Amino acid sequence: MSFNNLQLIAPLLKALSEAGYTTPTPVQEKSIPVILQNRDILACAQTGTGKTASFALPLLQLLHQEPEAANKNCRALILVPTRELALQVAESFSDYGKYLPLKHVAIFGGVSQHQQVKALREHVDILIATPGRLLDLMNQRHVSLNGIKHLVLDEADRMLDMGFITDVQKILYRMPAQRQTIFFSATMPPEIQHLSDSLLKNPEKIAI
Ligand code: AMP
Repeated sequence: MSFNNLQLIAPLLKALSEAGYTTPTPVQEKSIPVILQNRDILACAQTGTGKTASFALPLLQLLHQEPEAANKNCRALILVPTRELALQVAESFSDYGKYLPLKHVAIFGGVSQHQQVKALREHVDILIATPGRLLDLMNQRHVSLNGIKHLVLDEADRMLDMGFITDVQKILYRMPAQRQTIFFSATMPPEIQHLSDSLLKNPEKIAI
């Protein structure tokens, strides 16, 4: 299996080849075709399995190919538990998306919101965020989720462990119900199972 068999567009294949990736990892092989079909997915995968590329690559492709509604900022939201993960995911979007005209911004707590607010005033396709800071900025009307068509919950079990589930639920409440939801968790405790059941529509289930 090579990335060429996964129906990825040339700008992504070029970036992958420059990153030195030749073979998709198992989670990439399984997730990429499902996400490209705009279907929901429930994936049980740990860090180190290549999970970031497994959602970043097909999302970049979908966003590049789908028509952009006028004035709709932020079409994809990636929710992550920590600032470190936000930065890491943002770096992946920079690497894989370097030949596509899509813009992403990472927002997270523990730093001044000034630069983040400034970045949000420009056009943004992909928002990578920790729940607390995102809610803060939504409450201050610096960000709206009205245009979200694709949502990723990354490391959902860690978000639960860190006490973010109420914030996550408040965020979910304020975005369109009609969307693709991509759910990643390393473990599936009952609360996570319950959350995924309530969010996902006919998901493809993937365990690595
Ligand atoms: P992740 O599980 O997303 O944190 O990725 C773990 C590491 O594997 C990251 O450093 C990626 O750059 C790298 N990686 C992801 N996919 C591939 C691949 N198909 N081939 C080689 N390295 C990869």
